[in-house]
Amino acid sequence: MTVLTNIATLATCRLEGGQEQIHEIPDAALAWEGPTITWVGPQSDLPQTYKDGKQVDASRALVIPGLIDCHTHLAFGGWRADEFELRCRGAEYLEIARHGGGISSTVSATRRMAADEMKKKAEGFLVEMARLGVTTVECKSGYGLDVETELKILEVYRRLKEEQPVGIVPTFLGAHIVPPEYKSKRQEYVALLTETLIPAVALRGLADFCDVFVEDTAFTPEEARQIIETAKRYGLRVKLHVDQLNDGNGAKLAAELGAASANHLEYASEEGIRAMADAGVVAVTMPLASLYLNQPAFPARSFIDAGVPVAVATDFNPGSAPSYHLPLAMMLACTMSRMTPSEVLKGATACAALALGQADRIGSLEPGKDADFVLLNAPSINHWLYHFRPNDAIATYIKGNMFSV
Ligand SMILES: [Zn+2]
Repeated sequence: MTVLTNIATLATCRLEGGQEQIHEIPDAALAWEGPTITWVGPQSDLPQTYKDGKQVDASRALVIPGLIDCHTHLAFGGWRADEFELRCRGAEYLEIARHGGGISSTVSATRRMAADEMKKKAEGFLVEMARLGVTTVECKSGYGLDVETELKILEVYRRLKEEQPVGIVPTFLGAHIVPPEYKSKRQEYVALLTETLIPAVALRGLADFCDVFVEDTAFTPEEARQIIETAKRYGLRVKLHVDQLNDGNGAKLAAELGAASANHLEYASEEGIRAMADAGVVAVTMPLASLYLNQPAFPARSFIDAGVPVAVATDFNPGSAPSYHLPLAMMLACTMSRMTPSEVLKGATACAALALGQADRIGSLEPGKDADFVLLNAPSINHWLYHFRPNDAIATYIKGNMFSV
């Protein structure tokens, strides 16, 4: 067993209580055995048995649970820097999409990319994310949009899950957009998803979740319902991209379909927010996407006041959010959505775990949970997100082992 001592403050981020309650312990110690936490508390209460074990001095660091990025599109071919320039010149996201740019250009690059190359690129991102304190990443498919490439992406995630330490939660997003070759026969693409791809993904155990992009340029609520009902029959859990560019009644749809989380939600209606609260759906905000697209910020207070847990994620993808810097997204959630640093920390830990259906295992520092935690060089959570620096993480531990590359 190992004990981390001399912790200035440890934020346990236990799920109970409101969004702002991160349950801090001053002058703390944390013990773990193998991959599992065995004891957390004030160092003065540390039982004698732990004092005899291996000790690691935290040198007055701040300790938080490993950060969870609960919404990324991690594996993709190419980049879209030229499109970024067009948007800087004033072109709209939907306008670029209508002219064959946007997601469909990444789809072409992803179809061409070999699996090994894709894995190497994604693994490079994971290394840098772990250095920032991220210990679990949700990873979506959705840049293949044909049987071969969607399975290729999900197989890459399976190999990453087996071969490197960062926790991977795979999500099937075959319903990202209707691919160009199905533009005039979209119902055939929905049939490909429901009759071929979802069964193939589920039977091979390649995804935990099924996600649908519900938007004018993507899928209608009716198509989403059809896809999600099929995914549920195959045992996949549900996520939705909704209400990002206008109010498409997506928040209400997420509640009706029993989604674990609804993502984006910048334009969600009051009625939709109430429905999410009643159904226990987590809202996932991705301020980097709002910032890059120059869109209004996520109305965090409406959700938190209604009792909806709010998770904070990057939405890392080559178009609308080409950054995997979760602490940066967290700082932006403070400044753009007026969440407090404590609310944001809970959003990137316990609430994010809830959005992934894994709150029993990750997202907080409690006995029985995975020993995923980060040592930060900051005097407080407020100071960490206020005096924003490239990286305040001194060390990241994943399942009890210090991450190093
Ligand atoms: Zn996304």
